[in-house]
Amino acid sequence: MLEISVLGASDSVGKSCVMISDNDQRRVVLDVGIQLHPRRTGKVSTPPNIDKYAEDTEAVLISHAHIDHSGYTPALYRAGYHGDIHMTTPTKDIVNILWKDHLKIEGPHHYGVSHLQTALMKVKTHNYYRKFKIADGITAEFLDASHILGSALILLEWDGTRILYTGDFNNAKTPYHDPIQYPDPDDPIDILITETTNANRRIEGRKTVTSNLTKSLLKCYSRGGKAIIPSFALGRSQEIQAYLASDFDSFLNKFPLYVDGMILDMNAIYERYMNEKWVSPRILIELKDNGYRTPFDHDGIRVIDDVAMKMKRFKKRELLIGREKQSIILTTSGMMEGGPVYDYLRMGGNDKRNGLYIVGYQVEGTMGSDIANGQKKVALDNGFGQVFDVSLDLEVKSFEFSGHSTLEGLVQMVQYSSPRKIYAIHGEPSAQERYATEVKNLGFDVKTLTSHDVVHT
Ligand SMILES: [Zn+2]
Ligand SMILES: [Zn+2]
Repeated sequence: MLEISVLGASDSVGKSCVMISDNDQRRVVLDVGIQLHPRRTGKVSTPPNIDKYAEDTEAVLISHAHIDHSGYTPALYRAGYHGDIHMTTPTKDIVNILWKDHLKIEGPHHYGVSHLQTALMKVKTHNYYRKFKIADGITAEFLDASHILGSALILLEWDGTRILYTGDFNNAKTPYHDPIQYPDPDDPIDILITETTNANRRIEGRKTVTSNLTKSLLKCYSRGGKAIIPSFALGRSQEIQAYLASDFDSFLNKFPLYVDGMILDMNAIYERYMNEKWVSPRILIELKDNGYRTPFDHDGIRVIDDVAMKMKRFKKRELLIGREKQSIILTTSGMMEGGPVYDYLRMGGNDKRNGLYIVGYQVEGTMGSDIANGQKKVALDNGFGQVFDVSLDLEVKSFEFSGHSTLEGLVQMVQYSSPRKIYAIHGEPSAQERYATEVKNLGFDVKTLTSHDVVHT
């Protein structure tokens, strides 16, 4: 008998954490995320009760580096965990940066330097499609999830019971990844624990979304403006650079893209893994044909040199946004909750020729969501404690890129893996319900879980 507890990200998205245990005192934890709330609330939430179980947990596995799946992991060592943390090789490089950044922002509130160091030492890295042992009678395997670099589905074999936990997965073709490869139907799954993020949303095809973005960029260029694209450092930013290097190719030389903020650190990690093990052969061939190793090698993609002095960085931004020549600026933070994008908006937000192009999901209550919903007057700080009231007169547009599977893809996952039991998590209640109705109609046994739900199977 297995017990599955969803400690976070059940009927919502954020702080993913699933715990599986049995009567033999074996306990495995899948993902240990945190949830960031709008900055004005000053809140960060973590999986409830996970600390209590840390000491008695045998293994921790992380599906991918996004902090809502990985961010709280080092805190387990403060709570008494002694075991290993399993993840794919690129995921380790990414969390190394994200965890340190989290410590810098949060202070020792969740974990200290020593817990972070122990966590990094305890990471065991794996390739896709290699089975490894995590406890007596339990093996695990990471399967490519096509969500971001290094993202994985986690397949557990627990005394012969096959459990598939999807983390986040994508069935769309994106620049670095092919659509997800579904599990082999000849090898059915017993228990499927699946995300349902987009189950009740219609997602536009990637081609349409990118061509809409291209059109807006071209219009911005002909107005003589600067195009500001706020973006999450990891994943979406590298996709945007790849799209532009490929679709916008010749134009990028006269309308160059400047990259600023933590995106540069993530670019460096993507560079390390530009090989067939981790990205689609499609992009490798395309890059090779153009004489590049990575999209970032394009002459039209430039960096705002990272200089230690805050004041110097500010000066560089001022020069870039203030000059006459058009340019595209790709920068953090993705939900406009701070970061270099504030400098650009403060100095360029009132110029009608400019554009603000939103390419990522905006959590309700964040500055990004307020701006996307039409708010024109905003208060932006400059990182030196001063706050400025800015009137946003530039063009604001949103583009719906998604890193998550469509409903069709979620259903295909079920059809390929034919599980005897499905648990729907990681989605708003309406998304979970839509998903459940869909797979119930196909004759599958599905249960939507809400927080603190514990099921026995
Ligand atoms: Zn994710
Ligand atoms: Zn997620």
